[in-house]
Amino acid sequence: MVVGDISTGTDVLVIGAGPGGYVAAIRAAQHGLDTTLVERDAYGGVCLNYGCIPSKALITGAGLAHEAGNAEHMGIHADPAVDMEGLGGWKDDVVDQLTGGVEKLCKANGVNLVEGEASFADENTVRVAHGGDGQGSESIEFEHAIVATGSQPIELPGFDFTDEEVWTSRDALAADTIPDRLVVVGAGYIGMELATVFAKLGTDVTVVEMLDDALPMYESDVARVVRKRAKDLGIEFQFGEGASEWQESPDGGIQVVTETEDGVESTYAADKVLVAVGRRPVTEGVGLEAAGIETDDNGFIEVDDRMRTNRDHVFAIGDVAGEPMLAHVASHEGIVASEVIAGEPAAMDAQAVPAAVFTDPEVATVGMTEAEAEEEGFEPVVGEMPFRASGRALTADHTDGFVRIVADEETGLVLGGQIVGPEASELIAEVSLAVEMGATLEDVGSTIHTHPTLAEAVMEAAENAQGQAIHTLNR
Ligand SMILES: Cc1cc2nc3c(=O)[nH]c(=O)nc-3n(C[C@H](O)[C@H](O)[C@H](O)COP(=O)(O)OP(=O)(O)OC[C@H]3O[C@@H](n4cnc5c(N)ncnc54)[C@H](O)[C@@H]3O)c2cc1C
Repeated sequence: MVVGDISTGTDVLVIGAGPGGYVAAIRAAQHGLDTTLVERDAYGGVCLNYGCIPSKALITGAGLAHEAGNAEHMGIHADPAVDMEGLGGWKDDVVDQLTGGVEKLCKANGVNLVEGEASFADENTVRVAHGGDGQGSESIEFEHAIVATGSQPIELPGFDFTDEEVWTSRDALAADTIPDRLVVVGAGYIGMELATVFAKLGTDVTVVEMLDDALPMYESDVARVVRKRAKDLGIEFQFGEGASEWQESPDGGIQVVTETEDGVESTYAADKVLVAVGRRPVTEGVGLEAAGIETDDNGFIEVDDRMRTNRDHVFAIGDVAGEPMLAHVASHEGIVASEVIAGEPAAMDAQAVPAAVFTDPEVATVGMTEAEAEEEGFEPVVGEMPFRASGRALTADHTDGFVRIVADEETGLVLGGQIVGPEASELIAEVSLAVEMGATLEDVGSTIHTHPTLAEAVMEAAENAQGQAIHTLNR
């Protein structure tokens, strides 16, 4: 301990107040454990402050403006103008409400909140540096610790994040003006969501991707729907090219230099370049070595299905514990870790984890694809329902995409689903529940669904898999 330190003790010490850490802390406190949550920046972590929430707020705003300005075929004539300060202000209000809510919830559940940067001093102690002049530091002794320090964007050689022209997703979400031209490096979900936002706000967007498709982690017919719509929105794709550097350009803007595998160079003019090529764990400065906590080759903390690290009394959850790096996964892992600490028989035993991309249209998946089901030894049966055959999709004027359900032919058990289309992120919840509950195609297909809704498409896909669809031709 350093002279002048205050020293306190706690049952559970949580480092990081993102959707992993704050949920873990609340659950631990609900179990009657004395719980301390340390955060160095803002309650709610990346998700509430710089990720899920601000991006979805901008997606809503940009989508509203775009729809209103493109509805002549419905007899609606408007020419909306987006004032980025106004849109940004509304987004910040949403963020503030949620982050304020996190702080209140933590306090109301009896979590001790400590502001500062935590790092392990030894196996049972963290030091928290409070930052700022004369703010000092404190040592906290703990019985159990949960590391929930999250992730940060990966920097690409040639694109220094301190350069004003180079944007991380966080910079893009904080933009107070709309750039005329934007190059997005990386066509994963973060790159594609933000490319869609800016294209709808009127920016000329070029997406550069080393692989040969957008959203390369999804099935090609799913990605195709998003790519086609993105092109309709004016987004240009340059596949098979890696961005190597940016340069100032004589027109006052910049140009982004790319290179193919064969060494062919191209340049794309822009005002900003958004680098969205992936995220890496935040472990530096956390003093993992002092507590003897191991990481894998990519720097993620290794955990078992109870979120335990190699040290029995230290847990790791959320992005810092590796893929899938999603907010709802972080929260679920947080609950598991706290339950285990409280002596409950908890473990990560979800049958399937849903994931969503909030592009236009949205993509959402859960469980197995047809190919994965085959690999697992099932004889999969697949049912589909295109949204163009859905009354609700037509009345919502969003008919791109489809619902696909994958099931085991012999038992009818639902194994997974892939949805690309309107409200896919909401609709996937029904398929997730089906997979988790061990529901069959018959269960889903013979459940009465409200009409007219998009959810009927899930029912129809299940009927289609059984050769009994009414509103689409059976396969
Ligand atoms: C643009 C964008 C959009 C996204 N959209 C979605 C989405 O729609 N849906 C979805 O599920 N996921 C989305 N994500 C991913 C999601 O944000 C993360 O999976 C989630 O935030 C991970 O939660 P976490 O608790 O593990 O970490 P984080 O949210 O990263 O929180 C970690 C916290 O730990 C704090 N911290 C770090 N080190 C220390 C330390 N030494 N001491 C004290 N505090 C520390 C940090 O300040 C931070 O607040 C998005 C991410 C981005 C970037």
